[in-house]
Amino acid sequence: MKSTMMNYPLVLGSILKRAYNVHPEKEVVSKMNDESIHRYTYGEYFKRTLQLMSALKRNGVNSFDRIATFALNHYRHLELYFAIPCIQGILHTLNIRLFPEQLEFIVNHAEDKFIFIDKSLTKAIAPLVNQFKSVEKFIIIDDKENIEPANLPNAIDYEEFLAMGDYKEGWDLLHSLKIDENDPAGMCYTSGTTGNPKGVLYSHRTIFLHSMGICLADALCLSENETVLPVVPMFHANAWGIPFACVMTGAKLVFPGKHLLGHPLAELLEQEKVTIAAGVPTVWNVLYQQLKKKQYNLKLHTMVVGGSAAPRSMIENYEKEFGINILHAWGMTETSPLGTVSRLRSYMKDWDEEKQYTMRVKQGFAVPGIEIRAIDENGNDIPRDGKSVGELIVRGAWVTGSYYNMDIKESFTEDGWFRTGDVVTIDEYNFMQITDRKKDLIKTRGEWISSVEMENIVMGLPFVMEAAVVGRPDKLKEEAPVIFCVPKEGESIDKKAIIEELKKHFAHWQIPHIDDIHIIDSIPKTSVGKFDKKVLRNKIKEIYKE
Ligand code: AMP
Repeated sequence: MKSTMMNYPLVLGSILKRAYNVHPEKEVVSKMNDESIHRYTYGEYFKRTLQLMSALKRNGVNSFDRIATFALNHYRHLELYFAIPCIQGILHTLNIRLFPEQLEFIVNHAEDKFIFIDKSLTKAIAPLVNQFKSVEKFIIIDDKENIEPANLPNAIDYEEFLAMGDYKEGWDLLHSLKIDENDPAGMCYTSGTTGNPKGVLYSHRTIFLHSMGICLADALCLSENETVLPVVPMFHANAWGIPFACVMTGAKLVFPGKHLLGHPLAELLEQEKVTIAAGVPTVWNVLYQQLKKKQYNLKLHTMVVGGSAAPRSMIENYEKEFGINILHAWGMTETSPLGTVSRLRSYMKDWDEEKQYTMRVKQGFAVPGIEIRAIDENGNDIPRDGKSVGELIVRGAWVTGSYYNMDIKESFTEDGWFRTGDVVTIDEYNFMQITDRKKDLIKTRGEWISSVEMENIVMGLPFVMEAAVVGRPDKLKEEAPVIFCVPKEGESIDKKAIIEELKKHFAHWQIPHIDDIHIIDSIPKTSVGKFDKKVLRNKIKEIYKE
């Protein structure tokens, strides 16, 4: 028997059209590199995006062509987010912070046809263009950086390219192209620090469902009422899907361009009355220092934090000092990315503060559309007791089932769940907590130490800005933890106090030796702002050479 319901395709074109029909007056604001503000409405956005669809078609973009972007967060990137998939092309967001060899690999593996690139980033690409096998054209976006763009072959200015298109033709394309909801719409490569990056192809349907999923009140709670600023780059898992969800709901969108830290960010949050912002912990760490220095009149009520674990001190300080709720979320490029969110359940609101914070530092429960489990090395589910650890596996409506043109069987269980490589506990309330990436666990006397837990405790000390923990080989213990830490501005690191604090939480044989605490100027970061433990492990080889 069949249902009586329509088979309405879940495609990006319908999100775009709704923006025009339902909230054309709402704003999209971008801070450009020269600090000027670009401001227009979703109505104007819609018209330019349709014109861009026509320009892409007239320039020979065919179905399923990969069209890359190499750009920061701004309105033209948002135009590309919809124009490319709406003519059945594939939006491929390139990570601007990757090493040249990785970039070369990705562009050639994806066989990108065009690259839309910010003027200020052209110098980074210029030395590689001869290595790119498939790229026919570079379209240069004037981000108002006061420099001349580097010379790229077949380069054209974005506005000139757009002017080749026709709005009416775009309108016809939007209504005539038969796009299937399962057609690919977007593509991201993982930012893995080992091996070659792996490509994930999102479909119209998965982006549509993910957009709805993240808007849910129990997820990120995005709605037309909010003004949303994604600090998370549009090249990192589609800025966690936030731009798509904002166009869907009509939330005012604020793009920070290159202004991601300190005063310029705080000022933008204030001026545009931003209510929800999203980014990795490092960003909020730096912003916190700024908010302590200068008073801003902020309307910000929620900061979504993901990508790395949000330390308890961050959650507590923001809440107690600024009344801002840090919403801890977990996800991966492979999961579109939102998988879990840590929100207190109704019955937890009466719990004492201490118990509430222990829940809020966890990565939380699966959002509707996602299922999570944790398994041991034999593939059996571990008890949901908040103590037993296992590998997190996921499946769901927006989780990838394979990688693009790569056969990587070990990333999936035999029955098709995606293996995340994250080591976690799951408690009786079904809140998941990451204890480590599999490869980052430290094995001391046959037992695992969670580097994430140790880092969070050290980062909770008032003189510590950031701390990263990695293992070093040890003759007796197998591995011993080594702490790298960065002092807060004007503070100095008290190594003894670190040891004393750790003693409250770890067994004596797990505590690092005082000589294994190293003070450094900054923790090296990956292309998406996570602690780069590979670099720290190399540093360890140098320090402990003899
Ligand atoms: P990416 O695909 O670059 O977004 O990286 C995904 C990985 O980031 C996950 O597998 C986790 O190891 C890590 N991650 C994401 N969110 C969190 C979080 N809230 N806490 C700890 N680790 C996280």
